[in-house]
Amino acid sequence: MNDHQLLRYSRHILLPQIGITGQQALIKSHVLIVGAGGLGSPAAMYLAASGVGRLTICDSDKVDLTNLQRQIAHNTDRIGVLKTDSVKKTLNDINPEVEVIALSERMDEARLLELARDADAVIDASDNFPTRYAINRVCARLKKPLVSGAAVRFEGQVAVFDLRHAHTPCYHCLFPESGDDQDTRCAVMGVFAPLVGIVGCVQAVETLKILTNIGKILNGRLLLLDGLTMEWRSIKLNKDSSCIVCGTTVEEL
Ligand SMILES: [Zn+2]
Repeated sequence: MNDHQLLRYSRHILLPQIGITGQQALIKSHVLIVGAGGLGSPAAMYLAASGVGRLTICDSDKVDLTNLQRQIAHNTDRIGVLKTDSVKKTLNDINPEVEVIALSERMDEARLLELARDADAVIDASDNFPTRYAINRVCARLKKPLVSGAAVRFEGQVAVFDLRHAHTPCYHCLFPESGDDQDTRCAVMGVFAPLVGIVGCVQAVETLKILTNIGKILNGRLLLLDGLTMEWRSIKLNKDSSCIVCGTTVEEL
């Protein structure tokens, strides 16, 4: 690290749990963030500010007026601009030392597999179930830590699925795919603005802990926030041994 970096990251370096070693680990890390909306905005902004060396962020949407109530990486001047272009500008302004790879593509499973292969952690900040299930399958297959978040109305959820550890469940163990194709896009539901900020920030916290190998990760636990009562709960998740994604029958193949 040069003098400039030592200053920029000094408040991290002062933390004994992180120090120079941890900060260097962050600088060498690569995180894939799927979604540049309400969750992806704060998660990506904190990871960029924290000096995570490479961020790949994907989203195929353009900035819309209805996004601006909560998607803080974007602003009024950027309505109509690709979200990836907008978020890249925001992240570069925060920290020009971070390499931002912004991909304006609709992600299918094959593409996610290709992108996740090179990542140290994956953040699910997407807004639809097909993408969530695809990200989970990819992370289970590659054994990449998946930091999953969701926020609707006044309720937030965060969980980590790190299948490098035995007995860790996956997203599918928690929410088995039902197969009915009802419109479950979070985008069409109401959401309390700062709630996505809280959830996205918790996702950034868990990702940074994974990258620096500190603390106790929210692995195999689901953190639930009720924004109306401001009560947090954390529940331990059980692995489903017959899960079609991560169950023992799959591992034997
Ligand atoms: Zn599973």
